[in-house]
Amino acid sequence: MTLAVKSRPLTAADIGASPQVQPPLPFAENALEPVISARTIGFHYGKHHKGYVDTLAKLVAGTPLAGATLEDIIFATAGDSDATPIFNNAAQCWNHNFYWHSLSPKAQAPEAALAAAIDRDFGSLAAMQAELAKVTVAQFGTGWGWLVAEGETLRVISTGDADVPFTNGQRPLLTIDVWEHAYYLDYQNRRPDHVDALVKGHLNWDFAARNFAAAKP
Ligand code: MN
Repeated sequence: MTLAVKSRPLTAADIGASPQVQPPLPFAENALEPVISARTIGFHYGKHHKGYVDTLAKLVAGTPLAGATLEDIIFATAGDSDATPIFNNAAQCWNHNFYWHSLSPKAQAPEAALAAAIDRDFGSLAAMQAELAKVTVAQFGTGWGWLVAEGETLRVISTGDADVPFTNGQRPLLTIDVWEHAYYLDYQNRRPDHVDALVKGHLNWDFAARNFAAAKP
């Protein structure tokens, strides 16, 4: 594997180049209640997310990747079958860093430039929300739902397991975690209800707008 140097940031500055540390949660553990309980956030952040951070540290110790950013590790190991565990743990660290910022305790709406792009590419905010919920719920097994920018165009996609959009050139604006650990304590098998509640009232559109601005070609 080789370390490539990126020419530009992938996302807004508060995600940045993502060093190999677990950032603090951007809200209190109970801030998303009742849609996501403090118990779920506590396990998710404190056990699952922390587990990826700790495992990655062990996997890269003593290798050229030890001091690298998450994004450089992901680009260096994507598609390399000898480095799958490193890729998976680095990508899950990045995805979770991005996920916490994608959530908002309070309902928000997209600001003007992003709202105009949503109307252009989906017809309306409601149509985009419906598409995001549908594609996210339909992700088979573990994975992530995303709003991404592909060139100038907004798209809704999902990725399986730890996969990230940016190794395919798509720039992430928002994500929803649909690994069962993200909702099972609160919703059991009712993934659609969990996703619907997030899409309707708890996505961080200010964060999405900053990522959209950073993603401009
Ligand atoms: Mn997760």
